[in-house]
Amino acid sequence: MVDEAALIQAAVEVRQKSYSPYSRFAVGAALWCEDGSIVAGCNVENGSFPLSLCAERAAVATAVGLGHRRFVAVAIVAGDAPVTPCGGCRQVLLEFGDMDVICISAGDHSRVDRYRLRDLLPHGFDLEELR
Ligand SMILES: [Zn+2]
Repeated sequence: MVDEAALIQAAVEVRQKSYSPYSRFAVGAALWCEDGSIVAGCNVENGSFPLSLCAERAAVATAVGLGHRRFVAVAIVAGDAPVTPCGGCRQVLLEFGDMDVICISAGDHSRVDRYRLRDLLPHGFDLEELR
């Protein structure tokens, strides 16, 4: 069972560490791993803009490095209104399973939008379907 409050809190906290001097659009993402662990990541921008890293992918990279391979949910905190993961992050997340996607506004966290990842990425490249 996902502790949604803890997951959102982790995304809120990691968002404060965002390195986003160019866009000033801080994003925090937190993954609920299959074993109940929470792993978070923030966006990391670069002066060479295409090299910037989204918060979701930062969280995935950290989680995989810690040995996690299945995620149950991801919480994303950013913006005045909730934002969904970009297309690239949707595909990266799908690699590790369909999951709940919880998008929270950054200000007062009053707005929460919920999705299933597969609904956000219909017909995504899914290794499980190919096996
Ligand atoms: Zn992204």
